[in-house]
This record gives sequence, structure tokens and C-alpha cells, in this order.
Amino acid sequence: MAAYDYDLFVIGGGSGGVRAARVAASLGKRVGIAEEYRFGGTCVIRGCVPKKLLVYASQYTEHFEDAVGYGWEVGESSFDWKRLVAAKDREIARLEGLYRRGLENSGAEIVASRAELIDAHTVRLLKSGKTVTAERIVIATGGTPNPHAALPGHDLCISSNEAFDLDELPRSILIAGGGYIAVEFANIFHGLGVDTTLIYRGVEILSRFDQDMRQGLHKAMVEKGIRIILTDVINEVTRAPAGGLIAKTKEGATLAVDTVMLALGRDPNTGGLGLDAAGVETDERGAVVVDENSRTNVKNIYALGDVTNRVQLTPVAIHEAMCFIETVYKDNPTSPDYDLIPTAVFSQPEIGTVGLSEEEAAGRYPELEIYRAEFRPMKATLTGRTEKTIMKLVVDAASRKVLGAHVLGHDSGEMAQLLGIALKAGATKDVFDRTMAVHPTASEELVTMYTPSYRVKNGERV
Ligand SMILES: Cc1cc2nc3c(=O)[nH]c(=O)nc-3n(C[C@H](O)[C@H](O)[C@H](O)COP(=O)(O)OP(=O)(O)OC[C@H]3O[C@@H](n4cnc5c(N)ncnc54)[C@H](O)[C@@H]3O)c2cc1C
Repeated sequence: MAAYDYDLFVIGGGSGGVRAARVAASLGKRVGIAEEYRFGGTCVIRGCVPKKLLVYASQYTEHFEDAVGYGWEVGESSFDWKRLVAAKDREIARLEGLYRRGLENSGAEIVASRAELIDAHTVRLLKSGKTVTAERIVIATGGTPNPHAALPGHDLCISSNEAFDLDELPRSILIAGGGYIAVEFANIFHGLGVDTTLIYRGVEILSRFDQDMRQGLHKAMVEKGIRIILTDVINEVTRAPAGGLIAKTKEGATLAVDTVMLALGRDPNTGGLGLDAAGVETDERGAVVVDENSRTNVKNIYALGDVTNRVQLTPVAIHEAMCFIETVYKDNPTSPDYDLIPTAVFSQPEIGTVGLSEEEAAGRYPELEIYRAEFRPMKATLTGRTEKTIMKLVVDAASRKVLGAHVLGHDSGEMAQLLGIALKAGATKDVFDRTMAVHPTASEELVTMYTPSYRVKNGERV
């Protein structure tokens, strides 16, 4: 008889957990996976997927406006938030079903319950009260929006979790935060006709992105009508006597809005998980500490995805799961590769980016060539829209290697994926120059910027 009930027990049925469980089961391992809410996790249920659907919905306002420039007469349009939420929910239910079926077909046992560790090999399933044992355990419990509990009135605010399922679309919203989730939701709500204000404590939105992208997007958002307040924070939120909320800021502003959304980072989901009982170490933010093979200090327990607070992106969680499988079940120790992760901000316009920003590269390389183009996208020529596309390549002058590629403009998320391949392959600027353009596209600019716009020597623009 086997010493344990399972070879592998996975806690958390999100991007990382499902992948680890499904692949391990398909290799013939006896696998159990517990999910306390819905399979698919943050990405499918209240993250990437529903967000992108809302982004699409919010773009129609501009599509209708732009259509006129192309000869269309668009009749009276109206928007039904409840219909959108219902359609989004149907799609998410479909995807959740696919995740469940994938697990079932692989032979993994699905447990619809919260799970907590009792010791290094034992898990308690809260719904049934049962305990099960496993040779190995994977913690893939993800993250949760930081509730900002120190803010008076934080309980009156929503997070991204609630934003997807509001009963009514607010007339006005104040969003606190300067990261990609705050910025994306500001664009979504604005596009859906909500009077939108973004408040961020930093000097510019989207820290860690290239400065040109940050400033370019800021300008575009303001031109669309989104209010952006920088170097200020909300100090207090109270109910307004006539309904709605009043937010007071540190710098003395008072904002009356229907809804306040906090998008101030995400905390690792480790509370009450029994990590102490199992002896698993966490850091000061509560993230599970792991080595380069996603192994915790307890040798049979691994952790992957957002709960480890490495890079909080779905493809990264999935990649970490695949590295875990290689390492543990294929005898091929594999560390996750975090170099050159392409990523996008689904704002309007989008940002697509891979590699080093000019600022990061300037700190690491003695001399850079910066190729930069700013132009009005072709589609805007007949619509009268003033919005600009910005493209930028950051090149190491010595090796000619392209260190970073950054695009602000339509479909730049799609471009980032392909630029990611080029940079991952180590492409030099000469390879970009030798690549034939696709005409007429916006992205052809990426292979036709022949002369550097400027150089950066020892951190200084010259
Ligand atoms: C609004 C938003 C937008 C995002 N957009 C993008 C994007 O565009 N692109 C991108 O790459 N990433 C995006 N992300 C990030 C992405 O969703 C996460 O990086 C990814 O989901 C992490 O996967 P994970 O497996 O680590 O955790 P999760 O997907 O969070 O899954 C963890 C699961 O564990 C469950 N769980 C927790 N504790 C327990 C327990 N004790 N017992 C049982 N189950 C438990 C949870 O219910 C959850 O389902 C977005 C996130 C948010 C919030």
C-alpha cells in the first residue's frame, strides 16, 4: 500500500496549480487539487480574461466615433452593463468548465474545498473536514488585492475583484494606484462612459516601465478625459449624505464619486494556510520563500505563481509549474527563466514591452543608442484623433544587441509577443535593419528606424 494518499497534492486551482496538477496526473501520478472558489483562478475568473473582455467592450465608444471619419453614419448607441456582465460570466463559466475537464481527463482528483496544511505531508480539506496525505505538496494559492486596511473607509471601497461584477455601472469612479491594474481599469471605466479619476502617490504612472511609455500614455489618457492626480493619496473615504462617497486626499482635495476602487498591489494568499504548522518559511510580505526550483525550505513542499511574489503574471505561473514538473517528475532540474518577459498594459492605447527600459539600460551599459519614433497612426488620419504611437528600441552601442523594445499604440500587446521572440533570440539592431517591413503597418517602424534618435553615454543623453 502507498505510504501517502497522493503523490502530489496541489492547493489552489489557478494558472499555476492547474498546470502542475494536470501535467503531473497525465504522467501517471496520483494527484489531488483543491480549489476554494472557482477553477481557473484569478486569471480566468477575475483577472486577465474578464479584464480583456471589458477592455474590448470599452473600446466601442471610440470605434463608433471613428466610424464617422470612414463614411459611416452610426445611429444612436447605448450600453447595457448588465448584459455585458452576463455575457462575460457565460464565457468565464465556459472556461472554468474547460479547466475542470482538463484536470478530470488527466486523471487528477478535483476537490472543491479550501485546503490548509497540518504538517509537511498532511492537508485538511475544510469542506469535508477530511485530512489527506501527499508525498509532495504544491502551494499555488495566488494573491489577493491589498485591502489597504489602514485607510479609514477602506471597507467602503471596491477592489478589482468586485469591479467585474458591480450591480450598476457607477457614474463616477476614483481609482487609487499607478500599476497596470489601476491604469487598465481607469481606461475601461472611462471607455464605458464613467467619469474617471486616477490617483497615484508617485510622480508618474506605471513605475518600472520606460519613461516614454509612461508619459505618452499619461498624456493620451488625459486627452481622452481621464483625470490623473499624482503625488497624492487618499486619506479617508466616507459616505456622502446624499449617496455616493467622499474621498479626501493628503494634499487637501475632496472628491465626490459614486465608487472608489483600490488597486494598490496584491498580497500573497498565505493567511491561515497552515504554513507555520508545516514549517514553511515566508518573507516579510507573507510570500512563500522558494529556491531556484520553486522548492520551499521544507523539502517536499513547493510553491509557485503569485504566492511566491516573483513575477505576478499568468504565463510566469504556468512556466514555473512546467519547471516544477521537469525538475521533480522528469529528473531534469529546471529553473524558471525570468529574462526578457514580454508584457502588455491593456490601456487605450496599449503598451507592449520587452526588455530593459532606457532608464534601466542606462544604469547598466556605458553607451546606448536609442531609436525612437512618434507618429500618428494611419487609422487616425481619417478620424481626426490626435493620439500618437510611440516606438522605441534601446540598443547596446558596443554589441548592437537590442536590449529593450517598447511600443505605445494599437495592438502593441500583440507586437510585444513577437518582439519577445526577437529579443530572446538575441537579435541585434542589424537584424532588425535587415528585416523586411510589412507595409502599411505601424510595426514596420520597428525595422525602419535606421539612425539613432540620440545616444546615452554613462547615463547621460547626448
Ligand atoms: C485584475 C487583474 C488583471 C490581470 N491581468 C493579467 C494579464 O493581463 N496578464 C497576465 O499575465 N496576468 C494578469 N494578472 C495576473 C494573473 O492573474 C496572475 O499572475 C495569475 O493568476 C497567477 O496564477 P496563480 O496560479 O499563482 O494564482 P491564482 O490564479 O490567483 O490562483 C490561486 C487559486 O488558489 C485558490 N486558493 C487560495 N487559497 C486556497 C486554499 N487555501 N485552498 C484552496 N484554494 C485556494 C484561489 O481561490 C485561486 O483560485 C491579472 C491579475 C488581476 C488581479
